Amino acid sequence: MHVACSECAAPASPFSLCRCGGLPEFALGDVRLDPLGLRRTLRERRASYEPLFASGVWRLRELLPPIPGQAIVSLAEGNIPLYDSAAGARYAGVDRLAYLHLGMSPTGSFKDLGMTVAVSAAVASGARAVVCASTGNTASSMAAYAARAGLDAFALVPRGRVSDAKLGQMREYGARVVEVDGSFDDAFAELARMDGAMIVNSINAYRIEGQKCAAYAMLEARGWRVPDWIALPGGNLGNISAFAKGLREARQLGLIDTLPRIALIRAARGVDTSASAIAIGDPKSLRRSQRALRDFDGIEHFLDDDAILAAKAAIGREGIGCEPASAASLGGIRALRACGAIEPDADVVAVLTGHVLKDVRAHAHALA
Ligand SMILES: *Cc1c(COP(=O)(O)O)cnc(C)c1O
Ligand SMILES: [Zn+2]
Repeated sequence: MHVACSECAAPASPFSLCRCGGLPEFALGDVRLDPLGLRRTLRERRASYEPLFASGVWRLRELLPPIPGQAIVSLAEGNIPLYDSAAGARYAGVDRLAYLHLGMSPTGSFKDLGMTVAVSAAVASGARAVVCASTGNTASSMAAYAARAGLDAFALVPRGRVSDAKLGQMREYGARVVEVDGSFDDAFAELARMDGAMIVNSINAYRIEGQKCAAYAMLEARGWRVPDWIALPGGNLGNISAFAKGLREARQLGLIDTLPRIALIRAARGVDTSASAIAIGDPKSLRRSQRALRDFDGIEHFLDDDAILAAKAAIGREGIGCEPASAASLGGIRALRACGAIEPDADVVAVLTGHVLKDVRAHAHALA
């Protein structure tokens, strides 16, 4: 597998931006795998007692960049529930809706899928420390995987904008937390001063490789039937890039033969939204996400906080629950259905990105 710039296609390092400013990306190349054999292998690995295959990410090892087994740091991530929801379908006004709950992960967000690969790559490359800028979930995930690997972890977070649960979690795992005045974007700018530690934000191409496994998990759970739509919240826009990459590859491999449409839901209030995980003004994967929206006949929608928190309450009432940013997917489907952009007979997967315990204040606040 080689790494190239996603903008100018020049050979690139997986760990840093290209000279043109583009993000590095692994290319699957012309891997030839028999799709039926691959489906069977996935089933067999799910049933095996091999510890590495307790991970839904590493069960897809042949589709990931090569990393020596002894460098792999895993917390059995990537076993992602897909919850069918009649109540969610009614709420959004579509025929069929299911939640792909990526918040049901070791540290409570989808960041774990990417972090297991990024920290494993850091170990393989001999790094002693990792660093990220974060609204909380990336840092929590990094802290856990770094601790498992015995690496130092540095988290740059926007002061006063990270939930207590996320701060407590990253400290619990032993990260050094540096609070930066301003927003996520200001914390991100500080990364440049942290030389010596490997950056594990989603500009690190290994993150996207792990996160693309969520698309495979969704397809596998649906018996490889492609939904009409996938809706997901967007912050830094790494997740939509990863989903798009996974889906494109699944089609290239012959696992599926059509692509879903993608609804990308962002916060209308930008850096001031109470959905703190998507409070980002200057998304680093913007160009990649625009390409994904083009390729998947997608729609980008900006949702206000009232609609996000109303959808969160609906998901909570079903006994599922999620953190505020996650609920943007359900709220977005409802809004896009209401304006006719999503058809009433659609079969939709709403991606929930974070666990309900990540942020319990936004909910209480909404009820006050
Ligand atoms: C990181 C995160 C997002 C945003 O994902 P991006 O890849 O930055 O677009 C949304 N929801 C939750 C809970 C997150 O942790
Ligand atoms: Zn480039």
